[in-house]
Order: sequence, then C-alpha cells, then structure tokens
Amino acid sequence: MIALVNYAKDPGSVELREIPVPQIGEEDVLLRVDAVGICGSDLHQFHGKNSWRVNYPVVLGHEFAGVVARLGSRVYGFREGDRVVSETAAVLPRDSALIRQGLYNLEPGRLGFGYGVDGAMAAFVKAPARCLHHVPSALSQEKAALTEPCCVAYNAVCVNSHIRPGQSVAIIGPGPIGLLCAAMAKLAGAGHLLVIGAPVDAKRLAVALQIGADTVLGADGEDISAWVKGFGDGYGMDLVIDAAGVSASLKLALDIVRPAGQITKVGWGPQPLGFSLDPLVQKAVTLRGSFSHNWPVWEEVLSLLAAGKINLAPVLNQVSPLTEWRQAFEAMHAGEIVKGVLKP
Ligand SMILES: [Zn+2]
Repeated sequence: MIALVNYAKDPGSVELREIPVPQIGEEDVLLRVDAVGICGSDLHQFHGKNSWRVNYPVVLGHEFAGVVARLGSRVYGFREGDRVVSETAAVLPRDSALIRQGLYNLEPGRLGFGYGVDGAMAAFVKAPARCLHHVPSALSQEKAALTEPCCVAYNAVCVNSHIRPGQSVAIIGPGPIGLLCAAMAKLAGAGHLLVIGAPVDAKRLAVALQIGADTVLGADGEDISAWVKGFGDGYGMDLVIDAAGVSASLKLALDIVRPAGQITKVGWGPQPLGFSLDPLVQKAVTLRGSFSHNWPVWEEVLSLLAAGKINLAPVLNQVSPLTEWRQAFEAMHAGEIVKGVLKP
C-alpha cells in the first residue's frame, strides 16, 4: 500500500513509500482510510522541529476516519463496512491506575499514531478496537476526520475549564486548535469572545470572526493588554485559553486574565519561561494544562458534530489526494489554509 512516511529527524524527511498492509492482532481492526487531517504536529515532524520522540520510520497522521476492512477474532461491536473514527492512544500498558480512572490519555507509557506507531496517511491503518467510535450517519468522513482536534479543543474548554454563560473568554493562537477552542467557547456560552493572533495570522483571524469571535486582535500589531484594560470593567478576561504555547503567550495570558480567573494551556512550548509567575500568585489565577482527550469527550463531540452544532466549514479549507500531501502541508504551514484533509 502507499503511505506517507516520516523516515528521519532531518528536516524534510517525509516521502510516499510502498509498504506492507499492516497485520492485525486479535483485538485490532484494519481500517481502510477515507480521510486524514493534517495536524500541526505532522508539520513539526516534517520540519524536524518535533520536541517529542518519534519511532522512525513512521507513517504520519492521527486525525482520521475510515471503514472497517477486517476484524480481529476478539473484536465485538463493529462489523466490516462500519464507518469509524479512532482515538489516538494506540498503545497503552495492559493495566494501570490511570487507565482504571479513564484517564488513559495521561498515561505516561502511551504511544500515539503518527509518531509512536504507524498512523493513517496511508491506504490502511491498524487500530485497537477500544480506540474506535462509530461515525453518525449525518457526518461525512472528511468532517469526521476532524473529530480528534475537536476533542482536543472540547477537553481544554469544556472539561478542563469552566465557563459560565456570559463570561468573557480570550483565545491566544488562532491555529486549528485555537479556532476550534473558539467554537467550543461559543457553545459553552461564552459572553465576549476575543481571539488573539499575530500579523502572520490575518487570514486565520478572519476565520475566527466566521466562527463567532466578537473581537479579533493582533493582525495589525494592536496593543492587546491596552484593549483588555478598556474592555468591560477593565479587570480582564474570565478565561484565557493559551493555544499558542510559546512563553510570550503565557505572559500575555497572565497579563490579561481577570483576578481569580483561569488560564488553560493547551499549546506546547519547550522553551523555559523567562519571566516571573508572580502575577499568578497576586491574581490568584487557576492555571491548568489540558492534554488529549478520552472516551466521553469523543462521544460528546461526535454528538455535537452529528447535530451540526460545530461549524467546520470555515476550518476545513482543503481536501486533496494523499499524493498532493506536500502542497497541502505547505499551504497549511504558510497559513493559507487552516486545515487540510488528505484522501489516500
Ligand atoms: Zn493533532
């Protein structure tokens, strides 16, 4: 079968290769891949800028929808031909305290598709049956492929943050996850929704307006802190979601968050901070991380997608054949499109 393989850490070490169709175990399912989303992490691996360990060579892609092509002998609840999406914790220990808590997404020993084990930028992918969810009939495979990033955003905004209807929310970083966080904040009843970017994000900030942001800032180098001081009673935003990850965005979050407010950090940044966390103390802010997602989040997001309550149209800008992966990767990296989906 054809597969998009990341074969080394050196920048640009990605190419289409002919590899064997995966062998499945008795608790696995073989999926024929219909659609696979391009994630920022795929781009990082393409550019050799990943800060996580990769099992080279590995097939990229962890946001996917497929059709069940073959079932292991101990798989129940799925049949050949079923349309499914898959969670990302492809490999887990047999048992652990976190798994028993349903927090397998936080299990340190977990390995995910696209870096730890072969992912879905290929004609077929092998997935454990425990990762699978049925795709509701109203949902296309292209949109279903975006269930995973929607789950990242839902977990950050609706599980690991608390929004009371009417509260003000700021999202820093209008990449795919930041924009989907904006959509979730809207669903959760956010009052004023502010999305913050940089001059390179002009196109993505325009998308944020389509998603329902009340204000977007940063395309013209505006003074964000000054704007927030002039907003409402001037104390700041009830919730700030850091979907950018660089140290400067956490510094900005601490500056614009309201005393006793919350900051949820879903963006990664390997650099040390380089500034004082004293505002966290002085403002008595709750700072929380959010990583990945688990089973109930997937069911809730699929229910929202099936009901048409998450508008993916402004985010899903391009569907291309897998063979045109390079153009799609580059368009997404350049910010010309928010999210591309590939079809093997
Ligand atoms: Zn991703």
